[in-house]
Amino acid sequence: MTQPPATASSPRCAAATVLSAAARAVIIRAIEDNDGGEVFFVGRAGPDRIADDVLPCAFGNQDAVPALTSLAEAGDVVIHNHPSGGLQPSHQDIEIASALGERSVGFYIIDNACENAFVVTPAFEAPAPAVLDPDRMDELLGREGFLARAMDNYEFRPEQINMARAVCRAFNEDAVCVIEAGTGTGKSMAYLLPAVLWALENKEKVVVSTNTINLQEQLIHKDLPMLARRLGPKFRAELLKGRGNYLCLRRLEEVREHGQDLLGSGFANELKELMSWAKATPDGSLSDLAFRPATELWDEIKSEADNCPRTRCARYRDCFYYNARRRASAANILVANHALLLTDLALRLTTGNYTEAAVLPPFHRLVLDEGHNIEEAATRAFSAQVTVTGLRRMCRRWANPERRGMGVLSAFIRRLREAVEAEADWPVLEAAQAIVYEHLQPGSEELATVASEVCERMLPPLMDSAREESGAFADPARITQLRITGEVAASPLWLEHIEPLTRQMHAAISHFTAQADRLSVELKKLSKSAREKIASAALQVESHAGRMRLAGEQIGQFLKRDDNLCVWLEYAAPRRPGDPPILRWLTAPIEVGSVLKAALFAPVKTTIVTSATLTVDRKFDYVLTRLGLRSRERPPAESAATDDEPAPAYLDEDAAWDPDAPDFAPDRAPRPAENLMAARPKSAGIERPVILEVFDSPFNYREQALIAAPRDMPDPRRPEYESAVADAIERAVRISRGGAFVLFTSYGMLNRTVTRVGDRLSRERFTVLRQGDLARHALLERFRSSPRAVLFATSSFWEGVDVQGDALVLLVLARLPFSVPSEPVQQARVEAIERRGGNSFTEFSVPSAVIRFKQGFGRLIRSRTDRGAVLILDSRVVRQFYGRAFLNSLPAHDIWKGLQAQLWPELERFFAYRAR
Ligand code: SF4
Repeated sequence: MTQPPATASSPRCAAATVLSAAARAVIIRAIEDNDGGEVFFVGRAGPDRIADDVLPCAFGNQDAVPALTSLAEAGDVVIHNHPSGGLQPSHQDIEIASALGERSVGFYIIDNACENAFVVTPAFEAPAPAVLDPDRMDELLGREGFLARAMDNYEFRPEQINMARAVCRAFNEDAVCVIEAGTGTGKSMAYLLPAVLWALENKEKVVVSTNTINLQEQLIHKDLPMLARRLGPKFRAELLKGRGNYLCLRRLEEVREHGQDLLGSGFANELKELMSWAKATPDGSLSDLAFRPATELWDEIKSEADNCPRTRCARYRDCFYYNARRRASAANILVANHALLLTDLALRLTTGNYTEAAVLPPFHRLVLDEGHNIEEAATRAFSAQVTVTGLRRMCRRWANPERRGMGVLSAFIRRLREAVEAEADWPVLEAAQAIVYEHLQPGSEELATVASEVCERMLPPLMDSAREESGAFADPARITQLRITGEVAASPLWLEHIEPLTRQMHAAISHFTAQADRLSVELKKLSKSAREKIASAALQVESHAGRMRLAGEQIGQFLKRDDNLCVWLEYAAPRRPGDPPILRWLTAPIEVGSVLKAALFAPVKTTIVTSATLTVDRKFDYVLTRLGLRSRERPPAESAATDDEPAPAYLDEDAAWDPDAPDFAPDRAPRPAENLMAARPKSAGIERPVILEVFDSPFNYREQALIAAPRDMPDPRRPEYESAVADAIERAVRISRGGAFVLFTSYGMLNRTVTRVGDRLSRERFTVLRQGDLARHALLERFRSSPRAVLFATSSFWEGVDVQGDALVLLVLARLPFSVPSEPVQQARVEAIERRGGNSFTEFSVPSAVIRFKQGFGRLIRSRTDRGAVLILDSRVVRQFYGRAFLNSLPAHDIWKGLQAQLWPELERFFAYRAR
């Protein structure tokens, strides 16, 4: 019977009157997961005293209570179920309630269905948030502050203090704060200090997200420990990695016992090493492992969301991943990466859950460092791809045709036979065997064959079409991208080849997953004891089926071609005999701003977006528009590219590939972006205040740098451009005596330039290094330790590289870093702007290139004592109208713009000190 609300005279009430719907859903699931046993939850009550933000904290009887009481703070409630259904508090309950009550923590008892509640102690009013005093920042970061005492090389930086004050304001006002802080501002301390103080004073977690591992490591190993040592009050900071980084103890056990069925005997030695590592490792994550395990093996033993029974797992208590989650839950500061964060936000948006732990624990305050990468990170997180190779690999994991008896299905049937004892289970065994042997095993082989055939039949017409577009000399082994525009969708290529073959693929996947669904229906008929015995193997089958279903959904989305999505194919012929051809179906959201607004800026109370490169020509318009923080109405008419001032030439197509691009594995397979689009709230408004701040770099560029843009370099589209660039590089490197970074926008031009000048420079005892020759870390180490080094690199070296001192004194930017015009998502974005009457060149192409250009420029001067020269060898920067946007955006204002003949003596003078 449903109860009325609790009153002073009757503590019994309907659970819905004291717990939100989201909280009840969390509670019901956790109790179910615990087989109806006792679970203790800590929840945070809102102003209406309804508990919303609920976390299962302890399992078992009241003995588990001490562990959770430390987690509950004033204003929280502890919730506990009575499996018997009787809600009357026991003697022990009363004791717990009174201990909690002394700390202003409420206590409720509920039944297992979470329909009825007994309010032993009502929720206390949560204390008003403690505001941060911006003046304290002067005190803490100033000349007499803890930073000055902590650091030998402390520098007084007014910009840092002002930034910290702005961050305080954003916390106090529940605002979005977008801050450009130039190189050398000390921005990480400027946001960490207020974040830590806020987290401590308000008992609220603050998440700090970065784009690169380098910055994460700096925060977690350097900045936060220093704060912890010097600040005084103790706080906890944790790093949360993607789930696939952690070893799953249950799966390791499975592979140890049944690995033969899944993998054969090829990995026995590695498995043995992993078993001993598992006993010794403190955190069970890949970064603690001294060797890189084989992908096939790690795939079978890593932690996976869809292959984890959570609280039902026998290893749940010592699980590495859940231990990391528990530490993350208890942390004041949680460091994550953009990929994890965005996967978390996507899950929250599609499920409408902002209170339960999704990938990250619940949070309301967020700092996004390296904020210029958010749009790209969101695009990646919300994108999907299905590949022929991936499908074939999935099929082989179901059943390996070359090694009969191996694979998920064979392992499953063996386990099922062992588990079935009772007579009543025999018909289920028979039906399951029939589905596996007659449908799933042959079905997985057929699906692999269909995937190969679709690839074989689709590639020739695609190649023919590519040849028509790019001429007979197009390299068939180079990956080609074909965006499915309205025009392509009306062409014979789509109608006769791509669409019917993709539909065939889709139908084969649907047929296969329908049989997997039949199997799971049959398994539900098993007796409880048999179900328990095969739980692990059944979960393995279900997780593989889930991935196949997801591939089917993604192909379906490709065929549907939603207007909000960019849809394209990628393909290539095998490079060498025996290599597989490449065929991929891809989708990505065209705009992520509205999703970011709905999933991030609206629900999260405070968001700090910061980077050294957010403004273009000192204005935030571009970043605000791209992140959904400003309406994308057409701005006042601006000058556009004209015939005499043509639109720029872009990167070579191969620039799209970058082996060193940050690669964070998301925690869960991304759901189709279409679901996110559908999940966007209809209202586009963001009510939070948006604070904009620019804090300039404290470096004295006039003294420290020579910045030159020779105006007589040939236009980059002229054939003589590359040889002119090579000559200029050679000359500049000789004058600087090495210590040079030469940054390109494509591998093609990089390689051709190295071919032209590399040997000559090597003969003159320069150490010539090229991106790709060594791993990025090793390449940079080599560069730092070689006195006459020249590093030729492309996209990923335009940012995130920090070489201080004399090792780097010359930076050459070969070309303005415009995006690849044929890259499908960029193309779709350009078209979307044009469709709504905007000017894609000035609104998108130029500003996105300016941000990258500023990043590249920022590689040179990394400290107050650094000195060096920047050569911009793309003369469009001084000759075209849009060049102003590039130069005005630099932190330095004295740009040398003469002829090369005058430049070289100027450079000789600048580098004269290196001749001594
Ligand atoms: S709880 Fe999940 S991830 Fe952890 S050991 Fe068990 S199955 Fe693996």
